[in-house]
Amino acid sequence: MAVDVGAPYATRVRQALADDGMRTALDRATGHLKERRDRAMAEIDERRLRDEAGAVRRYAIERLPDLLEQLEANLIANGCHVHWARDAAEAVGVVLEIAREHEVGDVVKSKSMVTEEIGLNEALERSGIDVVETDLGEFIVQLAGESPSHILAPVIHKRVEDIAEIFRIRLNTPRTTSPAALCAAARRELRNEFLVADMGISGCNFAIAETGTICVITNEGNGRMVTSLPRVYVAIAGIEKVVRSAEDAVLLWQAATRNATGQNVSVYFSMSSGPRRRGDTDGPEEMHVILLDNGRSRILERGYADAALCIRCGACIDICPVYREIGGHAYGRTPYSGPIGAVLTPLLDYDIHAARDLPFASSLCGACRDVCPVKIDLPRLLLDLRSVVVERGASPVGERAAIRAYSTVMRRPAPYRALARLAGWLGPLAGLLPPLSTWKRDRGLPRFAARRFGALWRERVRDEEGAAG
Ligand code: SF4
Repeated sequence: MAVDVGAPYATRVRQALADDGMRTALDRATGHLKERRDRAMAEIDERRLRDEAGAVRRYAIERLPDLLEQLEANLIANGCHVHWARDAAEAVGVVLEIAREHEVGDVVKSKSMVTEEIGLNEALERSGIDVVETDLGEFIVQLAGESPSHILAPVIHKRVEDIAEIFRIRLNTPRTTSPAALCAAARRELRNEFLVADMGISGCNFAIAETGTICVITNEGNGRMVTSLPRVYVAIAGIEKVVRSAEDAVLLWQAATRNATGQNVSVYFSMSSGPRRRGDTDGPEEMHVILLDNGRSRILERGYADAALCIRCGACIDICPVYREIGGHAYGRTPYSGPIGAVLTPLLDYDIHAARDLPFASSLCGACRDVCPVKIDLPRLLLDLRSVVVERGASPVGERAAIRAYSTVMRRPAPYRALARLAGWLGPLAGLLPPLSTWKRDRGLPRFAARRFGALWRERVRDEEGAAG
C-alpha cells in the first residue's frame, strides 16, 4: 500500500501526494462520478429531492427510539433474531457466537462499511473462518490486502492497470486491462464461494420500521446472493439506518443512487424481511439483525445529530478538493473518508486526540454541503470539531505556541511594528526562518510588502495635509 494508514497524518498525506498512480486513478474516477451525478441531477428537481430526503432523515433521527422499538418488534414478528450491540466488541461477539452455533466455516459478505468499522473480517479470520468479499471493489481490495479508500467505490485509488496486476498475481489470470475480462474472472472466482458459504453477512442501507425490512443497495447482484443463498444471514445495521416506511426508503434509495453513481436507481435493491417461509424457493433458514450503536448515541447526545442523517452516498467525497488529492487512506484507519469521514471518525472514536487532524483536512469551500442530498452542513460540523480539538488541548504543541505568540504580537502595537519592520527588511528571506520555513514547505508564501501599511498611511495623510495647507 502506498499510504501507511497507521502513520501520522502528515506522513500519510505526503505519501499520498507522492503516489502519482493513485492520484491519476482518483482524478479519473472522481471526475467521472461527478459528471454522472451532474447529469442525473439535471434531469430532476434537485432542490425538491434534497428537501424531501432531508425531511425523511430528520424525522427518523428525531424519533429514533420509537422507530427502533417498532423495527425490533416487526423483525421479531417476521421471524428474525434481533441483537443489540453497544460497541464493536459486542457486535463481533454476536457474529462469532452465531457462527459457532451453526458451525460456519465459510462466509460471504456484501460491501459494508459498518463491518469495516468493527473489524469483523479480521475477527472472523482469527477464528479460523474464511471470509470472502463479494462486491467487486471490496474483492479487489481484499486480494490486494488493503482497506477500502471510499465508502462506495472501495478501489477508487487503483487504476485498471493496477487491478490487472493484482488479478494476474492472485488469481493467475492472463494480463488484461479489459474491464469485461476482469469482471468475468472475478465472477468465476466468486460463484463457487456463494455456493459453499454457510453464512452471508451484509450491512444495511435502510431498516424499515413499519415492516421490519433490511434494505441493501448493490449494482452487482451480490447483495441478493449474500442475503438469500447461505443458510444463515446476518445483517449489521447502525442504529441510525432506521427509516419510518417503505416509501421513505424508496425516496432515500433514489437520492442515494443519483448522488452516488448518477443512476436513477441502483440495479438491485434487496429487501429482506425474515428467513425463508414455508413455500419459499430460496432464502436463509435463519436471519439475524444486529443493531449497532458504537458511538452513535453519543453523536446524538453531543449535539451532532446532523452527522447521523448521512445516507453514505459518497457525493461529498467525490467533490471534495482535499479528498481528490489525497484519497481515502490518508484519513487513516477509518472506513469513512472525505468530509463526512472527517466528521464521523472523531465522533465515533470519541478520542479527539487520535483523530485531531481530520477536521482540518478541509478547505471549508462548502462544495460538500452543496451536494449533500440530506442537506448536512458539513463545514459547520468540521468547524465545531476544530473548536473541540483546540478546547481539549489536542492541537499540536508547536501550533499552540505559535498561535499564542502570534496573538501576543498582534495585540501589542510595539512588537507588531517591530516584527512588520523586520519582515519588510528581510523580504523573501523571511521564508527561510522558522516557523515560516515549515509553512512554506507545502504552501506558497505571499511576498511581504517592502513598506508597512502604517508608514504608507502616515505618508498619505502628511501629503494630503501638505496639499491642503
Ligand atoms: S454527508 Fe451527505 S453527501 Fe456525504 S455521504 Fe453523507 S449523505 Fe452523502
